[in-house]
Amino acid sequence: MLSMKQIQMVDLQGQYHKIKDQIDQSILEVIESSAYINGPEVKLFQEELEKYLGVKHVIPCANGTDALQIAMMGLGLEQGDEVITADFTFAATVEVIALLKLTPVLVDVEMDSFNMDIDALKKAITPKTKAIVPVHLFGQCANMEAILEVAKEHNLYVIEDTAQAIGADYKFSDGATKKAGTIGNVGTTSFFPSKNLGCYGDGGAIFTNDDKLAHTLRGIVNHGMYTRYYHDVIGVNSRLDSIQAAILRIKLPYLDEYCDARRKAAAYYNDAFSVSDKITIPITSDFTTHVFHQYTLKLHRVNRDALHKHLLENNIPCAIYYPVPLHAQKAYADKRYNESDFVVTNQLVTSVISLPMHTEFEEDQLKFITETVLSFVNK
Ligand SMILES: *Cc1c(COP(=O)(O)O)cnc(C)c1O
Repeated sequence: MLSMKQIQMVDLQGQYHKIKDQIDQSILEVIESSAYINGPEVKLFQEELEKYLGVKHVIPCANGTDALQIAMMGLGLEQGDEVITADFTFAATVEVIALLKLTPVLVDVEMDSFNMDIDALKKAITPKTKAIVPVHLFGQCANMEAILEVAKEHNLYVIEDTAQAIGADYKFSDGATKKAGTIGNVGTTSFFPSKNLGCYGDGGAIFTNDDKLAHTLRGIVNHGMYTRYYHDVIGVNSRLDSIQAAILRIKLPYLDEYCDARRKAAAYYNDAFSVSDKITIPITSDFTTHVFHQYTLKLHRVNRDALHKHLLENNIPCAIYYPVPLHAQKAYADKRYNESDFVVTNQLVTSVISLPMHTEFEEDQLKFITETVLSFVNK
């Protein structure tokens, strides 16, 4: 029997090897140029990403968490303002809300899409609400048209956390499409290596079509300076470095291909798992494309943690995204929360499992993964 390549949760090495010559050369050129910070590569990447996303302004920064924080600073949110986000996601979103002394308000998500539940959102609005942060979780957009409507009615900002969905398309009911992250007032993303558009270190960006906000954000990322050594607002130091920008310039033209490769792997998984009544495959909402940052199953009448262990024992990496709802995290617990408001999240954290997902699968790997999962759940 031919030996199968070791399965990775995210095969960054395989992806690198296909573009190694281009990447290596671009890194060496930056080193040779010695323009390590704010070099021309950063500006060029910014322009290329603006073009790809169809957005007026991209403001590169140091990581996706900073991007969220800077977006909230740029909108002028103030202590005590309530910011609504999803209970079922990575902690970065709620973390920056809390750090800025804004008041996080967590809401439940939808069982099918894992994204913010619109009724829960409506219920959470108070006179203090200032912003909504939908997270386009696992690679598909939240229901932006409904979110925009709520935002308009209550005069709220919309900040899209697009760290997991860069490249996804949102389809409006009138047929128009926009890229994830370019729909609300401001969008943010991360170029962490394992994200769909990842660099080889940390990186992030903020997107907006609002000229005035873009100007404010460009100052905030740079110590609040609009003129050198004149600090008009309190800022931060948050830069995308030139080497990362050079790498991203090489990878951006492949992003759509990468998304297709992920969709192809997801289609293989879906085909294999749709036969089992113990597995719910991920469902793509009809207003969005899915770029499968994660491929996440819901299990029924299966011991999830035993399956997790079984897969790891068979050298199949897998992960639980996410094992604890944010409202139940020590750092974010709050007397205001009622368990009865988080029925879906509370159920998801015990039933989801994410399988390997990347751009470099070989068919024997997918076959082995699906057979191993199915033989366990059917036993
Ligand atoms: C990865 C991620 C972030 C944070 O990005 P970093 O670059 O690691 O700071 C924020 N939000 C979501 C949904 C993420 O997946």
